[in-house]
Amino acid sequence: MKPSILITIDVEDWFQVENFKSRIPFSSWPSRELRVEKNTLRLLDLLDSRRATFFILGWIAERLPGLVREIHDRGHEVASHGYNHNLCNQQSNADLKADLTDSKKRLEDIIGFPVTGYRAPSFSINDDILRIIEDCAYSYDSSYNSFAMHGRYGHADLSGNQRNGIAVRLSDNFHEIPVSNLMIGKRVFPLGGGGYFRLIPFPFFRWGVRKILEQEGGYVFYMHPWETDPEQPRVNSVSPSYKFRHYTNLGKTEDKLSAIFKAFRNAAFVTCREYLNSVRQ
Ligand SMILES: [Zn+2]
Repeated sequence: MKPSILITIDVEDWFQVENFKSRIPFSSWPSRELRVEKNTLRLLDLLDSRRATFFILGWIAERLPGLVREIHDRGHEVASHGYNHNLCNQQSNADLKADLTDSKKRLEDIIGFPVTGYRAPSFSINDDILRIIEDCAYSYDSSYNSFAMHGRYGHADLSGNQRNGIAVRLSDNFHEIPVSNLMIGKRVFPLGGGGYFRLIPFPFFRWGVRKILEQEGGYVFYMHPWETDPEQPRVNSVSPSYKFRHYTNLGKTEDKLSAIFKAFRNAAFVTCREYLNSVRQ
C-alpha cells in the first residue's frame, strides 16, 4: 500500500494566532486586513490535484462562505477549527459544546455536506475534551501533538487504544488522528509542520518525513495560510521569541511545500476523512 500523506491546513488569519492574542483582542478583529482568502486560494492552486483537510475557523467561514464552498468544490475536506480560536481548555464545558456544535453546523450549512473532523486551537485537548468532541457528533479529532516542549499543547493519554494505521481508535465512532512527530529513541522531533517546517532545514525535514512514513505508513502535516504571506502586517509589540516563530522564513514556505510534494510524489495525498474510511475496521 502507498504511504499516505495528510496535509491539514488551519484556516485562520495573521491576526488570529494565539501568540498575538495579548496585543490583538477579539473585538478588534473586524478592523484588521483580511488576507486569508488570497493566501488560501494560492494554497489550493499549489495543492493542484492533491487532496487536503481544511480546519476552518467559524469567524472566517461567516465572512468568507465562498471560500469554504471553493475548498469543498475542489474536492478537499472541510472541517472545524472552532469559532474564534478560544482554547478548549480555557472554556467551560457548556461553552465548548456550543462552540463545537455551532461551528460544525455553520460549515455544513455552507457546503451542504457533513462535517466530521475537528482540530482544537493550539492543540488544546485533554481526555475529557476528546469525549466532549465525540459527544458533539464528530467522528475524529486531529489535535494530539506529542511534542511536549511546547507549553500550550494539551495532554491526552492515547495509550492502550487500538490503532488503525496512524489513527487511534477511541471508540466505535471516534478516532484521534495525531499530528506527526519523529521519534528517535525517546526523543521527539517536531516534524509535523507549522513554525517548525519553516525553521528546520529542508533536508532534515524531508529525511524526517521519510523516516515517519517508513515507521508509520502515514504522515500528518499542518500549516496555516498566513505562513505563506511575507507581506502581512507586522505586529511588533510582542516578545522577540513570538516574532521569531511567526515571521521567520515566511517567504520560503511555498517553495518548501512544493519540494515536499515533489519528494513524496508517490505517496497518496488524502483527506483525514478518506484516510479514516480506508483504515477503519
Ligand atoms: Zn489555529
